[in-house]
Amino acid sequence: MKNIEWEKLSFAYSATNYNIRCYYKNGKWGELEVSSDENIPIHMAATCLHYGQEAFEGLKAFKGKDDKVRLFRWEENHKRMVNSANGIMMPEVPADIFFEACKRTILLNSEFMPPYGKGAAFYLRPLLIGTGAQVGVKAASEYLFMVFGIPVGPYFKEGFKPVDVQIVRDSDRAAPLGTGVYKVGGNYAASLVSGGKAHDNGFAAALYLDAKEKKYIDECGPANFFGIKNNTYVTPKSESILPSITNRCLMDIAKDSGMTVERRPVAVEELAEFEECGACGTAAVISPIKRIVDLQKDGTEYMFRPDGTAGPVCTDLYKKLTGIQLGDIKDKFNWNTIIE
Ligand SMILES: *Cc1c(COP(=O)(O)O)cnc(C)c1O
Repeated sequence: MKNIEWEKLSFAYSATNYNIRCYYKNGKWGELEVSSDENIPIHMAATCLHYGQEAFEGLKAFKGKDDKVRLFRWEENHKRMVNSANGIMMPEVPADIFFEACKRTILLNSEFMPPYGKGAAFYLRPLLIGTGAQVGVKAASEYLFMVFGIPVGPYFKEGFKPVDVQIVRDSDRAAPLGTGVYKVGGNYAASLVSGGKAHDNGFAAALYLDAKEKKYIDECGPANFFGIKNNTYVTPKSESILPSITNRCLMDIAKDSGMTVERRPVAVEELAEFEECGACGTAAVISPIKRIVDLQKDGTEYMFRPDGTAGPVCTDLYKKLTGIQLGDIKDKFNWNTIIE
């Protein structure tokens, strides 16, 4: 076992022993290769460097009380990566290659797998990039698919504590018919300035509105948004949101807990009606929201948790989802794959 202070891990890169790589050449995928190199030798004209042919995924594995390692919903991450690949003209990674690469990354780095009960997880980062040289704007003919993994702690250092969020009105992360629905690097580059400004203003995240009318809520930084009112889980429907797997889990759990679930356009003004709000994604699972400020409009402040504690519904959903991931709660939805 590695000498790692599991409780003190943050959501940051750290070196592990091995990563797994697979190259696409001449129209087909090769064999999986094990690498201990953190670097990728890459052609200077590779399309990922110039034209953003790059998609990624993020998923977690957890060690349970029973010492078994559970990989959470990898099939969904695979499907989404296939969708992203199609969206920016890259070859689809077959499911068996995707799974095998995740599995080997976990098994070969077992000394970096956080033990049960430390609040930590093993985060896998699959990456698909165009490596073939191209100077004209065209898709590459060669690609690299790889997976690396790192032990991570909670995304927010403060833990499960509501955060402040700022509505962004002077930029968009994605357009309705653009690439917002794909998990591609370009969307993140487009969000860095507004995210950085929100941080400078003392907010944990930027809340994006629909690009067309600036009327509806889109995404909350790199996470989906949801609001709770009258025993109903409400989450925005939009053509520029990345479909979060965590959000789908929360919708299923909410339904299963007797709540109503609504996926529909959510107008900014509706924020005034929510009892609780949160952002969700693999990294943080749920980040409860304390208040949302419309700083660039009229300074309207929507306050949800004045006492600074997480609300009862967010807390319940969080406990149920993390309980399933850790193997503490029965996996009735069949979300876990045991890795052995
Ligand atoms: C990855 C991501 C999410 C969260 O998706 P999960 O599948 O829940 O991890 C939300 N929004 C954006 C923009 C993302 O890239």
